[in-house]
Amino acid sequence: MSIAQDMYDGDCCTWCNVYFTKRHGFPVACDRCWKEAIEEFGSEEEVIKETGVHKHNHPELSPEDEIE
Ligand SMILES: [Zn+2]
Repeated sequence: MSIAQDMYDGDCCTWCNVYFTKRHGFPVACDRCWKEAIEEFGSEEEVIKETGVHKHNHPELSPEDEIE
């Protein structure tokens, strides 16, 4: 499985590649990237419209949780 595919499936953040505990099934962004995107595009609706990326629903996977 490639990183690009993981982003597309919402396994990880589209912009910084931080992984989530569960797959979303659509492209998502982590809290930090989501906030930056809203600042850039003006609103959540615009971010979704312009990028096709949604806010994540599942918690971010912390580095300690990462499976080697
Ligand atoms: Zn991110």
